[in-house]
Amino acid sequence: MKDLKERLKQAARELGGDIGIADIGRFKNAPEMMHPKNIFPECKSVITVAAPFPRGAYRGISEGTHWANYTFYSYNRLNTLFRPLITYELACMLEDLGHEAVPVYPAVPERQSCKPPVSPDRPAPDVNINVRIAGVACGLGEIGWSKVFIHKKWGPRVRLGTILTDIELEPDPIVKPGTLCKRCMKCAKDCPGGAIPMPGEREPIRIKIDDVQIEWGDVHMGRCTLTHHGLNHEVSPFLKKALPGFDLDVRKSNVSEEVAYRMTYTLAQGKWIPSEELPSDSIVPYYKQMLDHVGYFAVCGAKGCVRSCMEYQEKTRNICQHKFKTPVFGKGKWRLKPPSEDSTGGIAEGKFPEKFNLPDTDAGTWGQGVSQRQCP
Ligand code: SF4
Repeated sequence: MKDLKERLKQAARELGGDIGIADIGRFKNAPEMMHPKNIFPECKSVITVAAPFPRGAYRGISEGTHWANYTFYSYNRLNTLFRPLITYELACMLEDLGHEAVPVYPAVPERQSCKPPVSPDRPAPDVNINVRIAGVACGLGEIGWSKVFIHKKWGPRVRLGTILTDIELEPDPIVKPGTLCKRCMKCAKDCPGGAIPMPGEREPIRIKIDDVQIEWGDVHMGRCTLTHHGLNHEVSPFLKKALPGFDLDVRKSNVSEEVAYRMTYTLAQGKWIPSEELPSDSIVPYYKQMLDHVGYFAVCGAKGCVRSCMEYQEKTRNICQHKFKTPVFGKGKWRLKPPSEDSTGGIAEGKFPEKFNLPDTDAGTWGQGVSQRQCP
């Protein structure tokens, strides 16, 4: 099947992506809720599909001037259109040759099921593949200390998907641990949520694929989610504007990932009565706008886990795509001031003193001196 493998690789390259291949034996240690055979019992080979996101998609956030690009090209359209197109084409190509090919939607495998199994002999829905572990098993790259997947060519700038098939394909060799992640710890130093531990801070996560021991940092996913989805005042000018004075110390937070999602999405989608102080009915108007128009909202721009790693990978020429003339961080890394150094500006804090805090010399004189301004 060497010929078929080469044809698949060539097709993936022509579609702008890359693939790696594992035999099903490499998943023998996979938990029940992440095992490919619990989606496709006849599966003999696992194919990981990688699609890059343009380095320039980060530029607006690195400059502190434009956010939607990153969400649109690196998350929404890349996850829902560009990468699935490669997966779809390769799956159809395999099925045209008579081999069943299951294109797997890359959902979150760590979420626990709260649904009953459809019969006692099967695991509960939803079984999901861990795309990063599958990517390692398929020889496409490594899981970095930051838990972000590092691809041989594009470094941390990739999204992954999976195809399960019943044909035996020659597996690719697993990348030797330490080839791509050099434990430079730039990701941990630059993560604005303090989510990535320094070595020794927390026990790393360890797994085995064949005889290869893989390990990565036990990332605090609650802090990561609070930062990624805009509740970290260090990285979000929108949060600062919409909720001035909001001073959650994400770096010390111990909320879980699940709790962080409930907090961030509630605020991003939430509404409250407009006022002169906060004239929009959206709690954080820009998050609502991104969700409505761009289909997701990513705020921190992966400052540590992707951009700092990318900077390191390029500078050390550790990945194939490293010859850019422009720096990753443009004019340099920026960080917003803590709320303690901002004036909060609420009514009780002294905003609109002439209307609410100072003696009203026209009290009771209807139509004179009364604000006619309507809230939008
Ligand atoms: S920045 Fe990249 S290479 Fe350095 S420790 Fe983090 S994941 Fe590894």
